[in-house]
Amino acid sequence: MTKSIDAIIVAAGSGQRLRAEVPKAFVSLAGKQMYVHSLLRFAAHSAINRIIVVVPMAKVEETKTAIKGLAGPKEILVVAGGKHRWQSVQNGVNASGAEWVMIHDAARPFVSEVVINAVIALSDRYNAVIATTPEVDTIRKFVGDRALETLDRSSVVRVQTPQLFLRENLVSALDHAPFLATTPTDEAMLMETSGIPVGIAPGDPLNFKITTQEDLALAEALCEKRLR
Ligand code: C5P
Repeated sequence: MTKSIDAIIVAAGSGQRLRAEVPKAFVSLAGKQMYVHSLLRFAAHSAINRIIVVVPMAKVEETKTAIKGLAGPKEILVVAGGKHRWQSVQNGVNASGAEWVMIHDAARPFVSEVVINAVIALSDRYNAVIATTPEVDTIRKFVGDRALETLDRSSVVRVQTPQLFLRENLVSALDHAPFLATTPTDEAMLMETSGIPVGIAPGDPLNFKITTQEDLALAEALCEKRLR
């Protein structure tokens, strides 16, 4: 049976590490605002029903105007985000009525159809699925400037988005977020604390997150060479 899936693109971060004049998701990449790249990819995917874009409060009206006609026949909603990422996700999830929600970082403009398909395929077996890539570097713990033990890299993965959840599970997991000792950096962390098993689907190294000016330069170069 086909699943009803809404895509939620979280674009409400400030992106301080990028040191840009506008919020990170609104920085220009290959002539388009960054969030538009992933919006177009979800718009083109047949399994995605509606798209919800979560933006800073001050950008809501501007975004509503900018996206008009962008996603073809698909409905796009624009909602305001919150201080923390999980609050932005919560606002997006509350605007969705779908059975499943696929959360994606606007800061990952190169999400592909293959990755979206892989995540959806594993949701036949898990109610929570994340895109991941293998760790290729040697990973160590440290304190200050001193290295501690080396971790077994074959037992860890790098976590990306998209992340797909049964919406009712995510709604209850998000309700617990304010009571956690640490601020969650993604929604799968919330699933873990709710005891819900999380499936790992293959992501893509090119689905990297733009954090710094160097990442942005790399993304521009990929677009220029038409590699993405
Ligand atoms: O800061 P970071 O790069 O980890 O953010 C990941 C994604 O979460 C970005 O696309 C960012 O716009 C989004 N975010 C958000 N609301 C926040 C913080 C981050 O939508 N309060």
